[in-house]
Amino acid sequence: MKKKVAVIGAGIAGLSAGAYLQKLGFETEIFEAHSKAGGLCAWWDRKGFTIDGCIHWSPGFKSTGDMYSLWRDVIPFDDSDIHFFNELYQVVDPDGEAFRAFIDINKLEEEMLRIAPEDRKQIRRFVKLVRKFERIVIPYLKPFKLMTFKEKLAFISNLLTRGRLILKLSRMTCADYGEKFLNPLLKRFFNASYLPLLPFITIVVNSNWMVKEGVGYPLGGSRKLVDLMVEEFEKTGGKINYSSTVEKIIIEGKQAKGLKTKNGETHYFDYIVSANDSHETLKKLIGKEHVNNKIRKWLINTKADTLSGFFISIGFKGNDFNGNGHRVFFKTEEPIMISKTQELTELEVTSYDFDPSAAPEGHSLLTIFFYTDEGRYWIDLREQDKTAYNKEKQRILDEVINRFEKQFGEIRDKIVFTDIATPATFKRYTRNWKGGIHGWYITPKIFKKVIPKTVSGLKNFYMTGHWTESYGGLTNCLKGGRHIAQLIDHDFQK
Ligand SMILES: Cc1cc2nc3c(=O)[nH]c(=O)nc-3n(C[C@H](O)[C@H](O)[C@H](O)COP(=O)(O)OP(=O)(O)OC[C@H]3O[C@@H](n4cnc5c(N)ncnc54)[C@H](O)[C@@H]3O)c2cc1C
Repeated sequence: MKKKVAVIGAGIAGLSAGAYLQKLGFETEIFEAHSKAGGLCAWWDRKGFTIDGCIHWSPGFKSTGDMYSLWRDVIPFDDSDIHFFNELYQVVDPDGEAFRAFIDINKLEEEMLRIAPEDRKQIRRFVKLVRKFERIVIPYLKPFKLMTFKEKLAFISNLLTRGRLILKLSRMTCADYGEKFLNPLLKRFFNASYLPLLPFITIVVNSNWMVKEGVGYPLGGSRKLVDLMVEEFEKTGGKINYSSTVEKIIIEGKQAKGLKTKNGETHYFDYIVSANDSHETLKKLIGKEHVNNKIRKWLINTKADTLSGFFISIGFKGNDFNGNGHRVFFKTEEPIMISKTQELTELEVTSYDFDPSAAPEGHSLLTIFFYTDEGRYWIDLREQDKTAYNKEKQRILDEVINRFEKQFGEIRDKIVFTDIATPATFKRYTRNWKGGIHGWYITPKIFKKVIPKTVSGLKNFYMTGHWTESYGGLTNCLKGGRHIAQLIDHDFQK
């Protein structure tokens, strides 16, 4: 008899766990609240355009890298369908002067020196620091617990060679480090996207694995990726129950035994994997009574927060934007208020002209994205006053287009459609706490304190997904799914 596993959530982590569990000989059923798979890795259609509501870039598509198997084991994509990037993004000033954030470290150094000769010494120090971590190997394919003694020793001694430096660099944020530079574009480079409060060590380590693993975009975007994943999972006999919201995990004694869904059904399994929001799982599905002190502390830890975001898409006639780069950060001369307290001064525009599936012939798709830690405000506003919420959404959309036009020229008369997703949208479609899109936001204060993947004292229960993998992201979620399947198999063999 095959052992039966239930997975809660058909996001990337749940689909990855399901695929690996099937490969390992388990009978796997996924329960998904939404009517489609993918979770945050979402897409939607508007007037002939397909909006990729998730992927900007991801590492691991280079076939010689260590992360490659995480993708290829569960998604049968064609290597020729990967669009590789030479630069992550550009940071531009109001006059159009651009700093190009190249992935290749030699090119990045050259570009930094070109744009900021006044920062020569600091640039050399930064590049030297990155190179010091060139040989650090991060084992992606096995959880630490399942490594052999030799593998553990190799990993730990590898880290120890840079131990003190790692500690030092993890105590400062990327924004702190940016302050060491005089040039405003370089300062902004260290403050772009989700970087500002991240420990500086992350940019140093990531700069190396981005080169080794390759940074790219799968043509066809989130839709293609998720469709391929679902197809592959179902081919091996895996089952997905859509529109099946799990409301309770059935616990008997100290063992997880099954699930209760919103429509009143109960299902019994040998193992349960939560690949949904950890808050909902720990507080409601399991219940606080089963949660130990360590996890309880996490949930009430005010220092542990998450970031949500606003995702604006604009479809327009023509292909005027591409000359500006595929992803550009620009400053808004006049700030935009995005909640009562948060002011926005920088916007990120992505052009999808490299992917023919994004827009009809002769048209282009642009998306504008920015983070917010005020997810709760937007979720509450929508719940309490939908008219005010819609009005605010429209105001932000108008102001964003207005700032965009100031930097890049007029676009309004060419617009075919606009669309805006807020933290309330992310919460509604994926049930993530505060509309969080990367799990916990790892700052120096909570660096290394990650939520464990099991609850001590509760047997046959596991957690995976972006809330248990630092910084979330697709590759991390694929890794999380793989690791949880390996751990279940290990426990079963025992
Ligand atoms: C705008 C945006 C841009 C991003 N850009 C990138 C990028 O460029 N590169 C990158 O790597 N990552 C990116 N990410 C992050 C990435 O999408 C996430 O980290 C990742 O998809 C999270 O996957 P997950 O499976 O852990 O969780 P989720 O995607 O949240 O999946 C959880 C699933 O569980 C379901 N669920 C929840 N509760 C229940 C329940 N009670 N019962 C049943 N089902 C339930 C949900 O409906 C959902 O489908 C981006 C995210 C967003 C939103």
